[in-house]
Amino acid sequence: MNRKGSTFKLNLKISNMETRSNNRFRNDSGSEGSSGRHFSSQLMQLFEDELRDIYWAEKALTKAIPKMVKNATSEELIRTLQNHLTQTEDHVTRVEQVFEIIDQKPKAEKCEAMNGLIEEGEEIIKDCEEGAMRDAGIISAAQKIEHYEIATYGTLRQFAETLNLPDAVSLLEQTLREEKAADEELTSVAVSEVNMQAVNY
Ligand code: FE
Ligand code: ZN
Ligand code: FE
Repeated sequence: MNRKGSTFKLNLKISNMETRSNNRFRNDSGSEGSSGRHFSSQLMQLFEDELRDIYWAEKALTKAIPKMVKNATSEELIRTLQNHLTQTEDHVTRVEQVFEIIDQKPKAEKCEAMNGLIEEGEEIIKDCEEGAMRDAGIISAAQKIEHYEIATYGTLRQFAETLNLPDAVSLLEQTLREEKAADEELTSVAVSEVNMQAVNY
């Protein structure tokens, strides 16, 4: 099916949910955009909810990644994590810019999924002996986090496209690319040194 077709299907699905009492799909809260954008659509409502979720997640990661750095041993892993910490600070800023594009104040809403992933990472750190084993554990936790972000930014970018918000598309696209690159870099750190060392412990 082509992209237009699947977009239509998505809109249809959302309007079928309209009768549910869940206020996530309420119809009365959006403001009308001056440029003919669908500022009050249900898709916009979902877009905003998803933005608040990733805003919370990115801010939480600016605190979680330094803990991973502190517990890592491999210099390559430390460098990769520190580099992604800097990027994560940019991700927070970009989400704020997307809020601005849709005339909304940046608002964070606790992301239970990211909270769980971060907590799991902390448990792994506790349960693993310092060194290659803990490094391998940190990489596995960090990659689960990256995959969650990749899924979220992929969805957000698609929503922004459908909502005709080209500036938001390019901001979200930029972050999506960095999340994918971070994931690949973590894989290469694992393959190139950490896992081999952990297997020899
Ligand atoms: Fe992120
Ligand atoms: Zn990010
Ligand atoms: Fe990330």
